[in-house]
Amino acid sequence: MNFFKHLATVRRHRKAVRKLCFKVGLIRQGLTHDLSKYSKAEFQPGVKYYQGYRSPQAKEREICGYSAAWLHHKGRNKHHFEYWTDFADGKKVYVDMPPQYFAEMVCDRVAASKIYLGAKYTNASPLEYFESKTDIQGMNRQTAERLKYYLTMIKDEGEEKTFKALKKYVKDSKKKK
Ligand SMILES: [Zn+2]
Repeated sequence: MNFFKHLATVRRHRKAVRKLCFKVGLIRQGLTHDLSKYSKAEFQPGVKYYQGYRSPQAKEREICGYSAAWLHHKGRNKHHFEYWTDFADGKKVYVDMPPQYFAEMVCDRVAASKIYLGAKYTNASPLEYFESKTDIQGMNRQTAERLKYYLTMIKDEGEEKTFKALKKYVKDSKKKK
């Protein structure tokens, strides 16, 4: 049953993100990551378009032209760069993501790549996904550069070192305030 398969995917994803968020010192965010996936607006399409090897939203997009579940999700979850956009004076505004949500995004991307790629996952996978599938034009430039920097660090120097550096980045940014 896709209901249980989707439920298991969400749980596995949340658990993987939680583990990484804790490494970065983001306890509350680790515990509440992606809770909106349990809402009706996101869970029902998740079951209906269940795929296993990729996000159900990709399937929903193929069929409907867009994903209503994604619109619901990105509007509520600050760990997505798409949340941080506005429109002013006839132009799109891309806001630099606050450090704690930026770090949660890195955790999210690593966890999602691991779950969808399974045994094919390598330290290069999150960077490859960023370079081939992410709408970099739709992201604040500094955020994009920073994201590339940390994903490259994962590829070249591994997870442990990168999440330590991320933790420091979040901590230092709090001191500055
Ligand atoms: Zn999310």
